Amino acid sequence: MLTNAFSGSLFVVAAPSGAGKSTLVNALLAQEPGIKLSISTTTRPPRPGEQDGREYHFTTAEDFVARADRGEFLEWAEVHGNYYGTSRLTVEQEMKTGTDILLEIDWQGARQVKKQFPDAAGIFILPPSIAALEERLHKRGTDEPHIITRRLLAAGGEIAHAPEFEYAIINEEFNVALSELQAIVKATRSRFAQQAARNASLFAQLGIHVQQPQS
Ligand code: GDP
Ligand code: ADP
Ligand code: 5GP
Repeated sequence: MLTNAFSGSLFVVAAPSGAGKSTLVNALLAQEPGIKLSISTTTRPPRPGEQDGREYHFTTAEDFVARADRGEFLEWAEVHGNYYGTSRLTVEQEMKTGTDILLEIDWQGARQVKKQFPDAAGIFILPPSIAALEERLHKRGTDEPHIITRRLLAAGGEIAHAPEFEYAIINEEFNVALSELQAIVKATRSRFAQQAARNASLFAQLGIHVQQPQS
């Protein structure tokens, strides 16, 4: 059993727009201490009510590309005509100190993360139907009709990548979906390697010798 240089766990949550990903993740974070959401950088304009540094770090395409060229993103992708990226420094610093990090990113980004962190837990949120997805995007009321149309057209392409994830949650009854998400978080935290990294001195006292990773 190998230990990990990072004692925190990494969770990657993806979904087609409107599946309820942000609502589920925010409810999870409100109940589970020790897990933090990585705030992505995006070139998408802020929606009404969104604040720079809270939902996203909003920036220009020019600045985003310069940062991507400098290797500042752990992953980045173009989604629905905008760039989105995850800060490498923030994620690595938090995980070293034992904080669990959750990324709300698209399938392209999830693939890049899996290559660098094969132990990351990939979770895909599915809507109960395409009609429900459309209804939720309209009810949310945050996007112009042409943006909603674009996101609905992209939904099938995003869903096609669901089999690349370890876990699937169908977000029909919100509370059922939330408890499934919590169960995944708890199970991942109980993996042997994560427990060994978080409780190194106890494991040593109990005489459990954990092999160190090769560097
Ligand atoms: P939502 O689909 O309604 O949550 O709308 P957003 O504008 O918040 O997100 C648009 C898309 O970008 C979604 O597929 C997100 O998962 C994806 N996304 C957000 N942040 C990141 C990121 O840092 N990296 C990558 N690769 N994708 C991201
Ligand atoms: P995403 O982040 O995946 O784009 P949101 O979290 O913004 O999706 O959810 C889209 C809309 O659907 C929001 O208005 C949210 O309140 C609503 N919603 C989320 N989950 C459910 C559910 N299980 N049943 C009905 N509506 C939901
Ligand atoms: P929205 O514009 O509705 O906030 O997000 C649209 C999509 O972009 C969502 O599917 C979201 O998961 C994705 N997304 C947000 N941030 C990132 C990111 O940092 N990286 C990647 N790859 N996708 C992201």
